[in-house]
Amino acid sequence: MRAVVTGAAGFIGSHLVQALVARGASVTAVDRRPVAPPPAGSALRVDLAVPAAAELRAALAGADAVFHLAAFAGVRESSPGAARRRVADNVVATARVLAATPSDVPVVVTSSSSVYGGARGPRPSRETDPPRPLGGYARSKAVVEALCHRRAERGGAVAVARPFTVAGDGQRPDMALARWIEAVRLGRPVRVLGSPLRTRDVTDVRDVVEGLVRIVERGVRATVNLGTGTPHTLAEMVECVSAVLGRPADVVVEPAAACEPPSTRACTERCGALLGFVPRTDLAALVERQVAAVAGRALEPA
Ligand code: NAD
Repeated sequence: MRAVVTGAAGFIGSHLVQALVARGASVTAVDRRPVAPPPAGSALRVDLAVPAAAELRAALAGADAVFHLAAFAGVRESSPGAARRRVADNVVATARVLAATPSDVPVVVTSSSSVYGGARGPRPSRETDPPRPLGGYARSKAVVEALCHRRAERGGAVAVARPFTVAGDGQRPDMALARWIEAVRLGRPVRVLGSPLRTRDVTDVRDVVEGLVRIVERGVRATVNLGTGTPHTLAEMVECVSAVLGRPADVVVEPAAACEPPSTRACTERCGALLGFVPRTDLAALVERQVAAVAGRALEPA
């Protein structure tokens, strides 16, 4: 398979490149940040929010599949430039990638579980639920999905993946588990937003990558949740970090922003039916892997 992966220098993108290479794919790794060329393939350092350069157009046109992960992914980022970056890196970049990819080349676009605005009561979020985005990030992903629907209406090959709280080695430093691991390691307070009883459907990055690859392998043209269906309380996640590091966690509960839903939980029926598997998270093993990766980085020479 000749694959293009955008956002290849990022958390999920770097795992996806590794998984595709392990499956024998030739990968064009695309990112605005520096990215090492995969063993089979090449790297392109481009900003996807500006008109596509000839090299990128050629890679997209010659691909068997395009995995579009590039985005400004910070959910709670509220700095003055955040709204502009969401438009450029989420909406404009997706529009340009979709426009530059021939309509018969399948594109898998990572949206987000945030378009649901949280689970409604105890019922898990289904792909058929009307979107209820709560903040700027979620709204930008709802627009991204609308762009994908327009491609599908015109007969273009496209699928939308909605990952739920992705965790594992290399997790973005702004995400809760990564922040808590850092805080407990350094003996700093662990900031929990809202309440320790809030829940998240934590999904192993390896399963998210497996899901993205299966979407292409199985020719899926639909919106699919990538989550486990089994939520964890924030308290459980903090306890896990504390147990793995063997250090106490000094928890401080702070108010959550309105864009933070109290709970998230994926309905996994469509994922199971279309992709032939359902993600499963072993939280302790996942946190151990994430901690080991952080410890490994800390030991690297500066
Ligand atoms: P990340 O920030 O680690 O990676 C995103 C990458 O995209 C970065 O390397 C960044 O440099 C690149 N990028 C951003 N704008 C670009 C542009 N204009 N041109 C070129 N490159 C650009 O994020 P991640 O956690 O790996 O998330 C990957 C995708 O999955 C994103 O679309 C995100 O919204 C989505 N997602 C992530 C999660 C999660 O829990 N991590 C959950 C749901 C959805």
